[in-house]
Amino acid sequence: MRYVSTRGAAPSREFDDVLLAGLAEDGGLFVPETWPRFSLRDWHAMRGLTYAELAARVMAPFTAGAVSEAALREICAEAYGGFGHAAVAPLVQLSPRLWMLELFHGPTLAFKDMAMQVLGRLFDLVLAARGQRVTIVAATSGDTGSAAIAACANRALVDIVVLHPAGRVSEVQRRQMTTVAAANVTNIAVQGTFDTCQDLVKAMFADAPFRQRVRLSAVNSINWARIAAQIPYYVAAALALGGPERAVAFSVPTGNFGNVLAAHAARCLGLPVGWLMVASNHNDILHRFFTRNDMRLVGVEPSFSPSMDIEVSSNFERLLFELLDRDPAATAATMRDFRASGRMAVPEAAWRRAGAGFAAERLDDAATLAEIARLYRDTGYLADPHSAIGVAGARELAGRLDAAVPVVALATAHPAKFPDAVRRASGVTPALPARLADLFDRPEIYITLPPDLAAIEAAVIGATERSAA
Ligand SMILES: *Cc1c(COP(=O)(O)O)cnc(C)c1O
Repeated sequence: MRYVSTRGAAPSREFDDVLLAGLAEDGGLFVPETWPRFSLRDWHAMRGLTYAELAARVMAPFTAGAVSEAALREICAEAYGGFGHAAVAPLVQLSPRLWMLELFHGPTLAFKDMAMQVLGRLFDLVLAARGQRVTIVAATSGDTGSAAIAACANRALVDIVVLHPAGRVSEVQRRQMTTVAAANVTNIAVQGTFDTCQDLVKAMFADAPFRQRVRLSAVNSINWARIAAQIPYYVAAALALGGPERAVAFSVPTGNFGNVLAAHAARCLGLPVGWLMVASNHNDILHRFFTRNDMRLVGVEPSFSPSMDIEVSSNFERLLFELLDRDPAATAATMRDFRASGRMAVPEAAWRRAGAGFAAERLDDAATLAEIARLYRDTGYLADPHSAIGVAGARELAGRLDAAVPVVALATAHPAKFPDAVRRASGVTPALPARLADLFDRPEIYITLPPDLAAIEAAVIGATERSAA
């Protein structure tokens, strides 16, 4: 499988290059040169597989030429073997037509684990074949950092350094990062905000001698391998609910558009995915786009669903590329104009095409708390704020669709990850799962540094030299 850039000015690449590079050299995002298709017979043959086996089967066409299905099977068995639920991504029925797809049974209790646990192992495999090491540097406001650390801890050929804003992440989130005792993990609390951390990471990538010295790499949400590893749970859910003979609709709490793009990819593979509901909080750029073709930058306001607090969804460019008939010049021009003007001009015809497969919903904080309360009262199900936004979108979608179409809401975080909002809405304090019950007793390891590039780079170099020694 070869990958092309959405902006058309970078050479096509194999999966292993795409995994390690993240972004294409022309600033575009990698997409498959052509979409693989599974036949009816292929879908049927996936029934009854374990989640890990199914995941390897679904990902295999995307890694073909770089990673074999047999290697993927081993990686997936290991990656999902550590999950807290034997089904890995169980479906829970809420009402006659509504299901939750729980994606939070991984080590850090959020859906990022579904892809990250595979990604860390793919890095090791691909790097071993090349005789290389990399240093992954990331800035986090919470979730992504802990999922990346859980994925990279104790990987042989990867060092990971995560910058978080000192005193500005929740205690659960900080402890999920700082209590991982692995020689290749370094946590730095930066005296600044999340933006400070992000600027420092950008500055490290811009420092070419430093970048080469530590062989800097990233696992951010635009990495195609993350999208590929998020497709299988849509397949598993659809097959469990009667697919491929029956279309299934999904409602996805959305931030950077990675998760819902994976659902779109499942549709491109030939899975009968019905409508996709893009559910947002009050940072509603996607809602404005899908409902009235108004994609304008307006800044970002904190919410109870912080993992969806985005100004612009980085993976949207992949959908844009499809909406523009895979025309890289048009995609590049649209993105250039967007950067310059803060407003994305999508032609009317392309926008209508988006409306044929996607719907959008938007919940502010008050509506999010009300949804948590309503769901708990009506069903006894305790949802975190992100998942509650997905449920509200699913109910809205169910109202619009034929009664024969099951609607699945994605539960992207465990309620115990956001206890304050959940308590406020429901009066119940969600308990951490048993395997994390000692989180508050484990020793923390992190260093605190001022927002000074030289000091941070010195810490990164020190960390990589320590773990290589
Ligand atoms: C990252 C995240 C999301 C948003 O997913 P995207 O792929 O960025 O759209 C939603 N909920 C939770 C809990 C997350 O961690």
